[in-house]
Amino acid sequence: MRKMFLAVSALALLGACAPKAAETEAAAPVEAVEAATPAEIHATLMVLDSHLDTPANLSNPDFDIMADNPRKMGSVQVDVPKMTRGGLDGGFWVIFTPQGPLTDEAYEAAFKAATARQDEILKMVADHPDTFELAYSADDAERIAASGKFVVLQSMENSYPLKLDVSNLETFYDKGLRMVGLIHFRDNQFGGSATDFTSPDDKGLTDLGKDLVREANRLGLVVDGSHSSDASVRDMMEISTTPVILTHTGLKSVYDHPRNITDEFLKEIAAQGGVIQINAYSGYLEELEDSPERRAALEQLKVEFEGVNPFTADDETKARYMERMEAINAEFPAPRSTFEKFMEHMLRALELVGPDHVGMGADWDGGGGVEGMEDVSFLPKVTERLITEGYTEEDLKKIWGGNLMRVMRQAEAAKETTE
Ligand SMILES: [Zn+2]
Repeated sequence: MRKMFLAVSALALLGACAPKAAETEAAAPVEAVEAATPAEIHATLMVLDSHLDTPANLSNPDFDIMADNPRKMGSVQVDVPKMTRGGLDGGFWVIFTPQGPLTDEAYEAAFKAATARQDEILKMVADHPDTFELAYSADDAERIAASGKFVVLQSMENSYPLKLDVSNLETFYDKGLRMVGLIHFRDNQFGGSATDFTSPDDKGLTDLGKDLVREANRLGLVVDGSHSSDASVRDMMEISTTPVILTHTGLKSVYDHPRNITDEFLKEIAAQGGVIQINAYSGYLEELEDSPERRAALEQLKVEFEGVNPFTADDETKARYMERMEAINAEFPAPRSTFEKFMEHMLRALELVGPDHVGMGADWDGGGGVEGMEDVSFLPKVTERLITEGYTEEDLKKIWGGNLMRVMRQAEAAKETTE
């Protein structure tokens, strides 16, 4: 976050060009070289995450975005002190809506909930104008990061709240929405999900979903294929005039899970200029087994709430469910993946498609975080590891934000040609 403007050649000395150090040292002041530790290099970069679920915390009276909140794995991992320590400049703050029934009444409720969530993001920025600023474009984001404030871009995870009318996208766009993810855990009015086992694997976008992609292009929004079935992502790639992004996804070649993608598919996405942002959600990183005690507690919970969808239940039921879930998590914590496993996904993606097509979307506050990288304050470790692997400062710039800015600029340019 706090830019240090160190000697630009310093990283080269640390990384692949280390053997040249002796000859360069003779010509350059030695202090400049000594100053650049990986942590210091990290601090000079614009560091963005493409999927911050933090807005879900904003209405919680126990949460204060300005305070160093006690960390809760998977749900309280981002606030100003942690962002400052981790050198995180901001990113896409998510308007997430859980998938509910495809009925008029449920659509209305989802629209209201998403609007309220977006208003909470706007209020966070309005309440702390010296700390946060809304970004409406890639230029905005870069200017804000350089000014020392935190960048607040907005994205939607699950377009379910847009009802059956794609023109509703513009309502959210007008208040700053710049990226749209069409689908979540289950199929919806826009298309097939990667994790809806009640429908065929090859279910792609519906006609309405295809229209939504066209509407996103018309308005200049980036299209996000995370959570969508491969067939839906293929439809997005075919229809969208701009590259598709996967804001929080991993690789099947590291862990074969429906939320991850194959090496071949990643190459196709990259060939179109698309980007994968690597997820740090334990259940998608590797096969993990609950302890017998946790399994028994979860079974018991299922019996207690039989037939209830906790996401769409009434407030009182939801609160009761969350309370029970938190108690179980505290007593019998969910097994966690590790920093090394997360890096395995990231390094594999980099090896396959290179630093122009890889970034990070850890799913902070949405279930993300692993042992060794428990909240955003640990982000310099990723930079350190990438430097150890030989990635240069130019590579790091792209990985940490440059690629996101590129796809945003492509979406912005498409808007201009459509108008
Ligand atoms: Zn997600």
